Parts: sequence; structure tokens; C-alpha cells
Amino acid sequence: MTMSVHQFLCLTDNYGALVHDSTTGTTACVDAPEAGPVLAALAERGWSLSDVLITHHHADHIQGVPELKAKFPNLKVRGPAKDAARIPFLTHPVHEGDTARIGSLAAKVIETPGHTLWHIAYHFEEDEIAFCGDTLFSLGCGRAFETPYAVLWSSLMKLAALPGETQLYCGHEYTEANGRFAVTIEPDNPILKARIEEVARLRAARRPTLPTTVAAELAANPFLRAEEPAVQAAVGMLGADPAAVFAEIRARKDRF
Ligand SMILES: [Zn+2]
Repeated sequence: MTMSVHQFLCLTDNYGALVHDSTTGTTACVDAPEAGPVLAALAERGWSLSDVLITHHHADHIQGVPELKAKFPNLKVRGPAKDAARIPFLTHPVHEGDTARIGSLAAKVIETPGHTLWHIAYHFEEDEIAFCGDTLFSLGCGRAFETPYAVLWSSLMKLAALPGETQLYCGHEYTEANGRFAVTIEPDNPILKARIEEVARLRAARRPTLPTTVAAELAANPFLRAEEPAVQAAVGMLGADPAAVFAEIRARKDRF
């Protein structure tokens, strides 16, 4: 395996990540909440930056790009073509199904609208790793700022359909707070309870709770479990359309 990922904290609770291809020495960062931690992570490893993969236009995901571009003038900046107006420095706009090549590594672009209208995720299929930005979090999901809840539900189902062992890197360290809400929906889910205990241990040791996996989230994340009778019953919607159940859970979290 030639792909390695180095995840690091930016701002308060954002994650940045470096993706490094040891075959060619190519390095990309996924989102750029701020330039400082990206540059520090590169310097620590003696890597040079050639690519940025942007998931969505929010400032806490893109504001480091201009400074990175000043340091690395040939930087390729990929991001959602449909949102080019809000991400002015894209050099390589991408669409659903495109492949972003980072040296010998390949990431397939998956459109995941919901949190923003043109949010995208990057799936390194061969390496079984996906970067899902603010669409999916461990034990939670992003707020649906720019679409109806049903659109975000469809996007979450696209991510949930990836192979179970796929490692998921998310845009924020929100797992502990998400767990506090998740137990209000599934208080008796033993896998959720075990995850919450694990998260408490990790956070007490100031360690990240991410990446997670598709399989782990399918077993514990209430936002992916709107088809489960226990989840439907918990919100008084047994037998309802899963998209509607999801919408109810998301609305409850908005008020939580
Ligand atoms: Zn965001």
C-alpha cells in the first residue's frame, strides 16, 4: 500500500489531512481550514504539497488555500465544479464520477449535496478510504443548510453503500457531542453504547475519534439507521419512509 494519511487538528475542531503517495512522493491535503497546521505537517515529514482536495465552500474548509498557493505556486486545487463561484481558486474543478489522481493514487468524486448544495466526497476506492467532509460525522451528520433533508439522506445513503471496511475521514471532531444525541434515539443499542465509551476514553486521552468505518457507522449512527424498526419506533414513525424518519431525527438534532 503506497497511500498514507496524516490527520491533524485545525482551528478548534476541524480536521485537515495529508494524503501521501510514497510511490511518487506526491502529497495532497484534504480541505484547508488554515495553512499553518498543513505547512507544519508537511515540514515534519519533509513532504511538498502538490494538490488540494476541497469538499465544500465553507470558510473553515477553504480559507487556508490562498496561503498554500502562495507557497506552492503549481498547486492543483480540486473541488466541486458546480460551486466554482463560491470557491474562486479552483484550478481543477471536478464532477460526480471524475477521478482525482494524486500521484499513483486515485480518488473517485462522489457528489453528496445536503450540508451545502454542491458538497463532494473523495473515495480512494483501491485504498478503501473516503473523505466525506461535513456530510457524515461519526454518530452524526452535517446540518442540511442548503437542501431539503431528503437530499442529505440520499447523499448519506451513497456513503453508506461504500464497502463496510471503508475508512471514513470527516471534517470535524464532533463525535462526543453526537453520541449524547444518538443515545436519545437508541438508548438500548449496545454497539452505540460501546462506541460512546470508546469515544470518552479517546477524548480523555486527547486522541481523535476518527477515522471511523462505514460498518461502524451503520451499526451505531442513528442518521444512517432510519430504516431500523427500533429507530423508527423511537421517533413514533414505525413503518414510515426512511427519508421522513431521517428528517425527523435531523430536525430533533437541530433543536437538541
Ligand atoms: Zn461545512
